[in-house]
Amino acid sequence: MNANCEVIPAQRTAPSIVDVPLEERRFPAYRLASRMTRSSSTVVRVGDALIGGHRFAVIAGPCSVESEEQIIATAQVVKQAGASFLRGGAFKPRTSPYSWQGLQEHGLKLLAAARAATGLPVVTEVMDSEDISMVAAYADVLQVGTRNSQNFSLLRKLGSVNKPILLKRGLMTTLDEFLLAAEYILAAGNEQVILCERGIRTFETATRNTLDLSAIPILQERTHLPIIVDPSHAVGNSRYVAPMVRAALAVGADGIMVEVHVDPEKALCDGAQSLGPALFGELMDDLRSMAPVFDREVRSPSSR
Ligand code: PEP
Ligand code: MN
Repeated sequence: MNANCEVIPAQRTAPSIVDVPLEERRFPAYRLASRMTRSSSTVVRVGDALIGGHRFAVIAGPCSVESEEQIIATAQVVKQAGASFLRGGAFKPRTSPYSWQGLQEHGLKLLAAARAATGLPVVTEVMDSEDISMVAAYADVLQVGTRNSQNFSLLRKLGSVNKPILLKRGLMTTLDEFLLAAEYILAAGNEQVILCERGIRTFETATRNTLDLSAIPILQERTHLPIIVDPSHAVGNSRYVAPMVRAALAVGADGIMVEVHVDPEKALCDGAQSLGPALFGELMDDLRSMAPVFDREVRSPSSR
């Protein structure tokens, strides 16, 4: 061996933040979101539905609320399959101003009707600061979409809302930027933040975006906030949704948000990535059989 050559053993595992004594920790800029501040994982609760903890949360529903029949029928389908939250957009952030923009307040009323019919709490997007109080009056969880992920004035205002905020990762945000976006909400007084990895923009065109599954263990190391995966907007094609959902469970995510439509071919938005009732039912059965291997539990199908 060359005497001048010093062999440095590879460090196989990075020391975890929680192994460092409190007095020696150097707090990152996202101090409230950081696991250094709170080592136990945050669980967000809406009634008896939880995000974080042992139960793998399933949020499902159409991209957008289209009609009373559509949202109630979809809510019943996802409830029966075992979802614990209904999703549906009333305010839609569309790339083109000429595309369908959503039913707005009427859509919120239909979501409230679907909640009344099924008991499922509602997750829906708020796009504009001006609409926060209206959306909060109907929704159980307010979603911030990927395009607004770094809209700091919106995030700050959501800090004074007394409802959980589901914050999506921006198309081009690093994980530290994502955590700093969450920090805006926390610093403004709302501790109930759920992070959602929904795919980032890369050079790849075979999928709509690239699902960054490595974000999950990294975020779990850096933050106590619950983290879910939205495979639908990541892959953009219903054929690839189920494999990525299974991967999300395996990688340790706290849940998923999936687009489900009673009739995907007729969807006004994102039909290509939406699962129909049969595929969603099969996926939920798969998840239930896989979950114990990963020390998780998926809600049973419901007949109510
Ligand atoms: C959505 O979930 O309805 C949505 C618009 O997603 P994203 O913001 O991730 O594109
Ligand atoms: Mn969509």
